[in-house]
Amino acid sequence: MNHLVERQWFVQVRRMRRSDPIYKPALLLVVLDLLREGLANTSAIPLAMALQRFDALLVRAGLLDHRRSGRAFMPAYHLSSSSKTEEPFWSLYRSGLPLGACKEPGSNAALLRLADAVRLEDVLALELATFEGIEVAYAAIHQLLEGDGRPDCTALLDAHDTDKSLVEERTTALVRCEQYPFRLDDLEARTMLTVREHVVRDRSLRRAVLPAYDFSCCLCSSRIMWNNLSEVEVAHIKPRSLRGVDDPRNTLALCQTHHWAFDLGLWSAGDDLRVKVATPNLQRGDDLGALRTFDGRRLAEPRRETARPHPEALQWHLQFRFNRAA
Ligand SMILES: [Zn+2]
Repeated sequence: MNHLVERQWFVQVRRMRRSDPIYKPALLLVVLDLLREGLANTSAIPLAMALQRFDALLVRAGLLDHRRSGRAFMPAYHLSSSSKTEEPFWSLYRSGLPLGACKEPGSNAALLRLADAVRLEDVLALELATFEGIEVAYAAIHQLLEGDGRPDCTALLDAHDTDKSLVEERTTALVRCEQYPFRLDDLEARTMLTVREHVVRDRSLRRAVLPAYDFSCCLCSSRIMWNNLSEVEVAHIKPRSLRGVDDPRNTLALCQTHHWAFDLGLWSAGDDLRVKVATPNLQRGDDLGALRTFDGRRLAEPRRETARPHPEALQWHLQFRFNRAA
């Protein structure tokens, strides 16, 4: 999921964190719904339709005060204006023409009279041009709400995140599979997943594995948390692309640097979790000095004993990754 961080959409969503925790994300979510269902395109999102959906979402979340329905207008306005820390998501339009830098209207009703559609900023529109981009955008907002942890954020998330129960089920199943005999290969695994299936799989694996390692790299102990985001990744010991099983015992929690080096086979670990660093014939410009300091150390073990990397998986890595580099 860390590739999210590079997306402009994600950056934007993170920026708005400190302000209104509910209404802007709620409005963005319903706009994404309209795009996914093909009811709008990024250059013309009808506000009336978005506002209706917005109210319906808040009702499902138990957050709508009926006396104040239609309050999506203010977030619609705020998402169109820039401040010191926020860039606009979109511009307001009326009859296909930009409203320009209008002053903040005195009331929702005044804004309603002015705008009938929004048009997304070009960079964001480009990111939302594919289904994958839309899924990434959903994930960014869901993560924002999850990270905030306030009851109204959680209620909104529950009302919108249709994958949430699926993620919980899969996380439980992953932890439960540690009780059964280990099988390195998952022969039934489908390697072609839809983006949505990828996101669910990724979220479940992170939830099953990272807390067991206290969100730290098991090689170097690096631990960076920010806004409920963890830099550490779930690394498969035998990769999924080679039908390595989705089982915590076939994974390690690694920082991005050490994940990269592990996948290249520049280092590995034996059954005793002792680290071995490759000693290849170095070519001009090669430098493994930063890894060398870990040689002979022991990997941190997961708190949940049953999640310990399985010898069979480590053996596979030594044989087919490490030896290739070494
Ligand atoms: Zn590390």
